Parts: sequence; C-alpha cells; structure tokens
Amino acid sequence: MTELESLYAAIKACPDCDLCKTRTKAVPGEGSPTAEIMLVGEGPGYNEDQQGRPFVGAAGKFLDELLASIGTRRSEVYITNVLKCRPPNNRDPLPNEVEACRKYLLRQIELIRPRLIVTLGRFSLAWFFPRDSIGKAHGQLRRLGNQYLYHVYHPAAALHAGNLRKVIQEDFARIPAALEKARESQAAAMPVAVSVAAEPAPEQMRLL
Ligand code: URA
Repeated sequence: MTELESLYAAIKACPDCDLCKTRTKAVPGEGSPTAEIMLVGEGPGYNEDQQGRPFVGAAGKFLDELLASIGTRRSEVYITNVLKCRPPNNRDPLPNEVEACRKYLLRQIELIRPRLIVTLGRFSLAWFFPRDSIGKAHGQLRRLGNQYLYHVYHPAAALHAGNLRKVIQEDFARIPAALEKARESQAAAMPVAVSVAAEPAPEQMRLL
C-alpha cells in the first residue's frame, strides 16, 4: 500500500468527529499523486457522499470545464476538500470538524507536494488564511512558507451567481501563470511549511 492509500484507509475509518456518524462514504480526494496543482474545496455534498469522490455533482461539472479551459483535467491535478465527510444537509463546516480533519489535508500536502495549491471558496481560503475574505483574496497568488497558494471563488457559488461565473473563469485563466511563477521559484522542491497562524509578509503577497 502506498502512503497515500494508507491515508485514504485512515480517512475512510476516521471516527474523529460526528460527521462519521452521518457519512455514507468518506471522500479522501483523487487525482495524480505527482500533481503540480492541488485544488482544495470545502467538503463533500450529496453526490460526493454517495460516490466517495470529490466534485462529482453540478459544481464538479463546472470545475471540469474550468480545468479544461486551462488545458488540464482531473487526472493531471489533485482534488480534495477541507472536510473529508459531508456535513448533514450541506451545512457549513463547524470549527471542530475542520480541526479534526486538519491532519488529513496536511498529510496530503506533504505527500503530494504540489507546486501550487488552489483554494476553492472561503472555507478553503480560511484553512490557510483565517482572517482573509474571499472577496479580496480571489485571484491573488501568495506564498506561505515555501508553499504557493492561489485563491478562487467556490465553483458552486460561481455557478449560481451569474457575475461570479465570469470572475472565476478569469481567475482560473491566470492559474497557468501562477503555476509558472511557483515553478520558477521552487526549482528545488522544499518541505511544506503550512501554518494557520502565519501571516505572509506584505512583500510576499500579490505575487501576480
Ligand atoms: N463542493 C466541495 O467543496 N467539494 C466537493 O467535493 C463537492 C462540492
């Protein structure tokens, strides 16, 4: 078993918060274990909970379109969520659930070592930058330790609000440039340093 596979097994058996009582299937994540881009959503919805796969509903269809628009696809990136189990009725994640699940996303980042993490929506943004608002952070490339991050609206939000659809499309269009920037400065892959407490220095912000 690879380390990623044993992580998936741990996630599927995880008893660490109440979401384990209501989940149908845990949704660890999927994609290339050597992906340069890791996309991080919020948590499984109904379809994801049924299938055990991330972004397979309407938001996932839109995400597929967005990936295609930048010349990539699911099998070339890695897709996961802040929460691995569905909150009942798709309610917002609770702080204790995010904390209980934190170790899994951290381990995924360590194992995959993506050049660029793309956060989808405000809960994913808050996982890395708790004080930031998505309205300001979207479309920005930033560095946290040695990790490059780029923020976009959640595809589900963008799907329903017509004006956000264009915004997310434009933000996605800048991902190749963000990745190139990350590649240039990460010539030697370094260990990830992700800390929720860290506040990037001003000169590290707005790299794009
Ligand atoms: N929304 C998310 O944030 N994640 C999924 O996997 C599906 C919908």
